Amino acid sequence: MSIEKSPVSAKIDFEKDGKQISYLRVPYSRNTSAWGAVLVPMIVIKNGVGSTVLLIGGNHGGEYEGPVTLLKLSHTLKSDQIRGRVVILPALNLPAVQAGNRVSPIDGLDMNRAFPGKYNGTITQIIAHYVHEAVLPLCDAVIDLHSGGFSLDLMPYNSMHYLPDEDLRRRTMAALKAFDAPLSLVMREFTGEGLLDYAVEGMGKIFLCAEIGGRGILSPAKLKIAENGVQNILKHFEIIEGDAPESTTRLMEVPDAGHYAYARSNGIYEAFFELGEDVQAGQAVGQIHYPEDPARNPEVITIERGGMLVGTRGPGFVERGDCVAVTARDL
Ligand SMILES: [Zn+2]
Repeated sequence: MSIEKSPVSAKIDFEKDGKQISYLRVPYSRNTSAWGAVLVPMIVIKNGVGSTVLLIGGNHGGEYEGPVTLLKLSHTLKSDQIRGRVVILPALNLPAVQAGNRVSPIDGLDMNRAFPGKYNGTITQIIAHYVHEAVLPLCDAVIDLHSGGFSLDLMPYNSMHYLPDEDLRRRTMAALKAFDAPLSLVMREFTGEGLLDYAVEGMGKIFLCAEIGGRGILSPAKLKIAENGVQNILKHFEIIEGDAPESTTRLMEVPDAGHYAYARSNGIYEAFFELGEDVQAGQAVGQIHYPEDPARNPEVITIERGGMLVGTRGPGFVERGDCVAVTARDL
Protein backbone atom coordinates (compact mmCIF):
# COMPACT_ATOMS: atom_id res chain seq x y z
CA MET A 1 0.00 0.00 0.00
CA SER A 2 1.24 3.46 -0.70
CA ILE A 3 0.14 6.88 0.36
CA GLU A 4 0.26 8.16 -3.25
CA LYS A 5 -2.96 6.25 -3.96
CA SER A 6 -4.81 7.74 -0.99
CA PRO A 7 -7.60 10.20 -1.89
CA VAL A 8 -6.87 12.07 1.37
CA SER A 9 -5.27 15.49 1.10
CA ALA A 10 -3.78 17.41 4.01
CA LYS A 11 -2.28 20.88 4.10
CA ILE A 12 0.19 19.92 6.79
CA ASP A 13 3.96 19.98 6.77
CA PHE A 14 5.09 17.49 9.40
CA GLU A 15 8.63 18.90 9.26
CA LYS A 16 7.72 22.54 9.86
CA ASP A 17 8.28 24.10 13.29
CA GLY A 18 5.30 25.81 14.94
CA LYS A 19 1.66 24.87 15.47
CA GLN A 20 -0.55 23.86 12.57
CA ILE A 21 -4.27 23.31 13.12
CA SER A 22 -5.58 21.62 10.02
CA TYR A 23 -7.59 18.74 8.60
CA LEU A 24 -7.37 15.56 6.64
CA ARG A 25 -9.69 16.14 3.72
CA VAL A 26 -11.42 12.84 2.95
CA PRO A 27 -13.67 13.02 -0.15
CA TYR A 28 -17.28 12.10 0.66
CA SER A 29 -19.56 12.44 -2.34
CA ARG A 30 -23.26 12.14 -1.51
CA ASN A 31 -26.69 13.45 -2.57
CA THR A 32 -26.43 16.59 -0.46
CA SER A 33 -22.79 17.36 -1.32
CA ALA A 34 -21.48 16.13 -4.65
CA TRP A 35 -17.92 17.35 -4.10
CA GLY A 36 -18.06 17.26 -0.31
CA ALA A 37 -15.59 15.88 2.19
CA VAL A 38 -15.20 14.74 5.77
CA LEU A 39 -12.65 17.04 7.44
CA VAL A 40 -10.84 15.06 10.13
CA PRO A 41 -9.03 17.47 12.47
CA MET A 42 -5.28 17.11 12.84
CA ILE A 43 -2.96 19.33 14.87
CA VAL A 44 0.82 19.20 14.55
CA ILE A 45 3.02 21.03 17.05
CA LYS A 46 6.75 20.86 16.43
CA ASN A 47 9.92 22.44 17.67
CA GLY A 48 13.33 21.19 16.64
CA VAL A 49 14.53 17.64 17.03
CA GLY A 50 13.06 15.17 19.51
CA SER A 51 10.54 12.39 19.96
CA THR A 52 7.22 12.30 18.12
CA VAL A 53 4.13 11.31 20.08
CA LEU A 54 0.75 10.77 18.42
CA LEU A 55 -2.25 11.44 20.67
CA ILE A 56 -5.60 10.06 19.50
CA GLY A 57 -9.16 10.69 20.69
CA GLY A 58 -12.44 9.72 19.07
CA ASN A 59 -11.22 6.44 17.60
CA HIS A 60 -14.77 5.60 18.66
CA GLY A 61 -17.59 8.10 19.09
CA GLY A 62 -19.41 8.30 22.41
CA GLU A 63 -16.10 8.31 24.31
CA TYR A 64 -15.58 11.85 25.50
CA GLU A 65 -12.54 12.14 27.79
CA GLY A 66 -10.07 11.68 24.90
CA PRO A 67 -11.44 14.31 22.50
CA VAL A 68 -11.93 16.88 25.29
CA THR A 69 -8.42 16.30 26.71
CA LEU A 70 -6.88 16.69 23.25
CA LEU A 71 -8.97 19.68 22.16
CA LYS A 72 -7.91 21.48 25.34
CA LEU A 73 -4.27 20.51 24.75
CA SER A 74 -4.46 21.72 21.14
CA HIS A 75 -5.54 25.15 22.41
CA THR A 76 -2.98 25.47 25.20
CA LEU A 77 0.20 23.74 24.03
CA LYS A 78 2.59 26.10 22.22
CA SER A 79 5.48 25.08 20.01
CA ASP A 80 7.99 27.04 22.11
CA GLN A 81 7.00 24.92 25.12
CA ILE A 82 8.06 21.68 23.47
CA ARG A 83 11.02 19.89 21.98
CA GLY A 84 10.18 17.35 19.28
CA ARG A 85 6.74 16.84 17.81
CA VAL A 86 3.19 16.24 19.04
CA VAL A 87 0.61 15.06 16.49
CA ILE A 88 -2.99 15.24 17.73
CA LEU A 89 -6.00 13.55 16.13
CA PRO A 90 -8.74 14.56 18.62
CA ALA A 91 -11.62 13.01 16.64
CA LEU A 92 -10.13 10.23 14.52
CA ASN A 93 -13.48 8.83 13.44
CA LEU A 94 -15.12 12.27 13.15
CA PRO A 95 -18.48 11.04 11.78
CA ALA A 96 -18.80 8.61 14.73
CA VAL A 97 -17.77 11.34 17.19
CA GLN A 98 -20.37 13.72 15.76
CA ALA A 99 -23.03 11.00 15.95
CA GLY A 100 -22.04 10.12 19.53
CA ASN A 101 -21.83 6.48 18.46
CA ARG A 102 -19.06 3.90 18.53
CA VAL A 103 -19.10 3.29 14.77
CA SER A 104 -19.36 5.61 11.78
CA PRO A 105 -22.90 6.40 10.59
CA ILE A 106 -21.54 6.64 7.02
CA ASP A 107 -20.30 3.09 6.53
CA GLY A 108 -21.18 1.40 9.83
CA LEU A 109 -17.49 0.62 10.47
CA ASP A 110 -15.60 0.53 13.74
CA MET A 111 -12.35 2.50 13.19
CA ASN A 112 -10.55 0.26 15.65
CA ARG A 113 -11.28 -2.80 13.52
CA ALA A 114 -10.36 -1.08 10.23
CA PHE A 115 -6.53 -0.99 10.37
CA PRO A 116 -4.38 -1.01 8.27
CA GLY A 117 -7.23 0.41 6.18
CA LYS A 118 -7.78 0.65 2.42
CA TYR A 119 -7.05 3.63 0.17
CA ASN A 120 -9.97 2.60 -2.07
CA GLY A 121 -12.30 1.52 0.75
CA THR A 122 -15.07 3.30 2.65
CA ILE A 123 -14.57 6.56 4.59
CA THR A 124 -13.46 4.79 7.80
CA GLN A 125 -11.04 2.54 5.90
CA ILE A 126 -9.61 5.51 3.96
CA ILE A 127 -8.93 7.45 7.19
CA ALA A 128 -7.30 4.37 8.74
CA HIS A 129 -5.14 3.85 5.66
CA TYR A 130 -3.92 7.46 5.65
CA VAL A 131 -3.03 7.35 9.35
CA HIS A 132 -1.32 3.99 8.89
CA GLU A 133 0.75 5.11 5.90
CA ALA A 134 1.41 8.81 6.53
CA VAL A 135 1.27 9.38 10.30
CA LEU A 136 2.29 6.21 12.16
CA PRO A 137 5.72 5.96 10.46
CA LEU A 138 6.62 9.39 11.94
CA CYS A 139 5.85 8.39 15.52
CA ASP A 140 7.84 6.96 18.41
CA ALA A 141 4.73 6.36 20.51
CA VAL A 142 0.95 6.39 20.09
CA ILE A 143 -1.44 7.05 22.97
CA ASP A 144 -5.05 6.14 22.09
CA LEU A 145 -7.59 7.60 24.53
CA HIS A 146 -10.81 5.58 24.78
CA SER A 147 -13.55 4.97 27.32
CA GLY A 148 -16.16 2.24 27.65
CA GLY A 149 -18.54 4.33 25.53
CA PHE A 150 -22.27 3.82 25.97
CA SER A 151 -22.18 0.06 26.49
CA LEU A 152 -19.49 -0.39 29.16
CA ASP A 153 -18.34 1.24 32.35
CA LEU A 154 -14.61 0.80 32.96
CA MET A 155 -12.33 1.73 35.83
CA PRO A 156 -10.06 4.47 34.56
CA TYR A 157 -6.96 2.63 33.36
CA ASN A 158 -4.25 2.66 30.74
CA SER A 159 -3.14 -0.58 29.13
CA MET A 160 -0.64 -2.43 26.96
CA HIS A 161 -0.61 -5.88 25.42
CA TYR A 162 1.64 -8.81 26.25
CA LEU A 163 4.48 -8.12 23.82
CA PRO A 164 6.86 -10.86 22.69
CA ASP A 165 9.70 -8.43 21.86
CA GLU A 166 11.56 -7.75 25.10
CA ASP A 167 12.85 -4.29 24.14
CA LEU A 168 9.43 -3.06 22.99
CA ARG A 169 7.84 -4.55 26.12
CA ARG A 170 10.30 -2.69 28.37
CA ARG A 171 9.83 0.64 26.58
CA THR A 172 6.04 0.26 26.55
CA MET A 173 5.93 -0.65 30.24
CA ALA A 174 8.01 2.45 31.08
CA ALA A 175 5.51 4.65 29.19
CA LEU A 176 2.56 2.87 30.82
CA LYS A 177 3.97 3.58 34.28
CA ALA A 178 4.81 7.17 33.32
CA PHE A 179 1.19 7.88 32.27
CA ASP A 180 0.39 6.95 35.88
CA ALA A 181 -3.33 6.15 35.62
CA PRO A 182 -4.66 4.81 38.95
CA LEU A 183 -4.69 1.39 37.30
CA SER A 184 -2.47 -0.07 34.55
CA LEU A 185 -3.34 -3.32 32.81
CA VAL A 186 -1.36 -5.76 30.70
CA MET A 187 -4.05 -7.37 28.57
CA ARG A 188 -4.88 -10.10 26.18
CA GLU A 189 -7.82 -9.07 24.02
CA PHE A 190 -10.40 -11.14 22.20
CA THR A 191 -11.67 -8.58 19.72
CA GLY A 192 -10.31 -9.90 16.43
CA GLU A 193 -8.25 -8.16 13.74
CA GLY A 194 -7.93 -4.59 12.61
CA LEU A 195 -6.93 -2.84 15.84
CA LEU A 196 -4.79 0.30 15.66
CA ASP A 197 -2.90 -1.30 18.56
CA TYR A 198 -1.59 -4.18 16.44
CA ALA A 199 -0.68 -1.86 13.55
CA VAL A 200 1.50 0.30 15.81
CA GLU A 201 3.03 -2.62 17.70
CA GLY A 202 3.81 -4.29 14.37
CA MET A 203 5.95 -1.27 13.48
CA GLY A 204 7.95 -1.78 16.70
CA LYS A 205 6.51 1.38 18.26
CA ILE A 206 5.12 2.05 21.73
CA PHE A 207 1.32 1.82 21.94
CA LEU A 208 -0.89 2.53 24.94
CA CYS A 209 -4.67 2.19 25.00
CA ALA A 210 -6.26 4.17 27.83
CA GLU A 211 -9.85 3.48 28.89
CA ILE A 212 -11.03 6.45 30.91
CA GLY A 213 -14.51 5.72 32.25
CA GLY A 214 -17.61 5.00 30.21
CA ARG A 215 -21.43 4.90 30.14
CA GLY A 216 -21.33 7.70 27.57
CA ILE A 217 -20.73 10.40 30.17
CA LEU A 218 -17.85 12.83 30.80
CA SER A 219 -16.69 12.73 34.41
CA PRO A 220 -14.55 15.65 35.70
CA ALA A 221 -12.42 13.34 37.87
CA LYS A 222 -11.75 10.93 35.00
CA LEU A 223 -11.03 13.79 32.59
CA LYS A 224 -8.34 14.92 35.05
CA ILE A 225 -6.76 11.44 34.88
CA ALA A 226 -6.56 11.68 31.08
CA GLU A 227 -5.18 15.23 31.18
CA ASN A 228 -2.53 14.39 33.79
CA GLY A 229 -1.62 11.20 31.94
CA VAL A 230 -1.00 13.07 28.68
CA GLN A 231 1.18 15.65 30.46
CA ASN A 232 3.14 12.81 32.10
CA ILE A 233 3.65 11.12 28.73
CA LEU A 234 4.94 14.34 27.15
CA LYS A 235 7.40 14.66 30.06
CA HIS A 236 8.39 11.00 29.74
CA PHE A 237 9.37 11.54 26.10
CA GLU A 238 11.14 14.81 27.03
CA ILE A 239 8.78 16.79 24.78
CA ILE A 240 7.82 19.14 27.60
CA GLU A 241 10.03 20.04 30.54
CA GLY A 242 9.81 18.38 33.90
CA ASP A 243 9.81 14.87 35.26
CA ALA A 244 6.83 12.55 35.27
CA PRO A 245 5.97 11.96 38.95
CA GLU A 246 7.00 8.76 40.71
CA SER A 247 4.47 6.20 39.44
CA THR A 248 1.78 5.17 41.92
CA THR A 249 -0.23 3.07 39.46
CA ARG A 250 -1.52 -0.37 40.45
CA LEU A 251 -0.21 -2.86 37.91
CA MET A 252 -2.62 -5.69 37.02
CA GLU A 253 -3.19 -8.11 34.15
CA VAL A 254 -6.00 -9.69 32.15
CA PRO A 255 -4.27 -12.80 30.82
CA ASP A 256 -7.08 -14.90 29.32
CA ALA A 257 -10.71 -15.14 28.24
CA GLY A 258 -11.77 -16.45 31.66
CA HIS A 259 -11.56 -12.84 32.93
CA TYR A 260 -14.49 -11.82 30.70
CA ALA A 261 -18.18 -12.75 31.33
CA TYR A 262 -20.95 -12.48 28.78
CA ALA A 263 -24.77 -12.43 28.82
CA ARG A 264 -26.35 -15.62 27.54
CA SER A 265 -29.87 -14.24 27.13
CA ASN A 266 -31.69 -10.95 26.58
CA GLY A 267 -33.00 -9.11 29.63
CA ILE A 268 -32.17 -6.70 32.46
CA TYR A 269 -28.68 -7.16 33.90
CA GLU A 270 -28.36 -6.80 37.66
CA ALA A 271 -24.67 -6.44 38.60
CA PHE A 272 -23.77 -7.77 42.06
CA PHE A 273 -20.56 -5.71 42.37
CA GLU A 274 -19.34 -2.17 41.97
CA LEU A 275 -16.22 -1.47 39.91
CA GLY A 276 -13.11 -1.97 42.07
CA GLU A 277 -14.65 -4.72 44.23
CA ASP A 278 -13.05 -8.15 44.44
CA VAL A 279 -14.76 -11.12 42.81
CA GLN A 280 -13.81 -14.76 43.50
CA ALA A 281 -13.19 -17.33 40.74
CA GLY A 282 -16.47 -18.98 39.76
CA GLN A 283 -18.51 -16.42 41.68
CA ALA A 284 -21.75 -14.92 40.35
CA VAL A 285 -21.11 -11.38 39.03
CA GLY A 286 -24.76 -10.65 38.28
CA GLN A 287 -28.02 -12.03 36.98
CA ILE A 288 -30.42 -11.40 34.12
CA HIS A 289 -34.11 -10.73 34.72
CA TYR A 290 -36.98 -11.21 32.24
CA PRO A 291 -39.59 -8.48 32.64
CA GLU A 292 -41.99 -10.15 30.19
CA ASP A 293 -41.90 -13.49 32.00
CA PRO A 294 -42.13 -13.22 35.82
CA ALA A 295 -42.37 -17.01 36.21
CA ARG A 296 -38.90 -17.45 34.72
CA ASN A 297 -36.01 -17.53 37.20
CA PRO A 298 -33.22 -14.99 36.69
CA GLU A 299 -30.16 -16.42 34.96
CA VAL A 300 -27.07 -16.14 37.14
CA ILE A 301 -23.83 -15.11 35.33
CA THR A 302 -20.59 -16.43 36.83
CA ILE A 303 -17.02 -15.51 35.93
CA GLU A 304 -14.32 -18.14 35.56
CA ARG A 305 -11.37 -16.05 36.81
CA GLY A 306 -11.53 -13.94 39.94
CA GLY A 307 -9.93 -10.56 40.61
CA MET A 308 -10.90 -6.93 40.80
CA LEU A 309 -13.93 -5.93 38.75
CA VAL A 310 -12.48 -3.45 36.22
CA GLY A 311 -15.34 -3.47 33.71
CA THR A 312 -19.11 -3.82 33.91
CA ARG A 313 -22.12 -3.40 31.66
CA GLY A 314 -23.29 0.20 31.12
CA PRO A 315 -27.03 0.13 30.22
CA GLY A 316 -29.39 -2.12 32.18
CA PHE A 317 -30.71 -4.00 29.18
CA VAL A 318 -28.44 -6.68 27.71
CA GLU A 319 -28.55 -8.98 24.71
CA ARG A 320 -27.07 -12.45 24.42
CA GLY A 321 -23.32 -12.09 23.78
CA ASP A 322 -22.89 -8.69 25.50
CA CYS A 323 -19.87 -8.36 27.77
CA VAL A 324 -21.12 -7.79 31.33
CA ALA A 325 -18.00 -8.14 33.49
CA VAL A 326 -14.19 -8.03 33.27
CA THR A 327 -11.82 -8.88 36.13
CA ALA A 328 -8.09 -8.27 36.49
CA ARG A 329 -5.51 -9.79 38.84
CA ASP A 330 -2.36 -8.25 40.30
CA LEU A 331 0.70 -8.65 38.10
ZN1 LIG B 1 -13.15 2.99 22.25
